[in-house]
Amino acid sequence: MPLYEYVCEECEHPFEALVFTGDDEATCPKCDSGRVAKQLSLPAAPPTESASLPMGCDSSLPPCGPVCCRLPGG
Ligand SMILES: [Zn+2]
Repeated sequence: MPLYEYVCEECEHPFEALVFTGDDEATCPKCDSGRVAKQLSLPAAPPTESASLPMGCDSSLPPCGPVCCRLPGG
């Protein structure tokens, strides 16, 4: 079941609530207000520049290491 983050529009209290199918209602656990704003869930660890190129891998130089991309069967 999805877990959403809300922020109460009355007291600005942030909280999380499980939302069941067909039930999109949530109430603030602090002031019991029904005026809550659903927050968009943040993506977990966006893939950015995870693989860095090996240093010193030049075609005019020997292979940069045992896992060099220029070695056969690598
Ligand atoms: Zn509240």
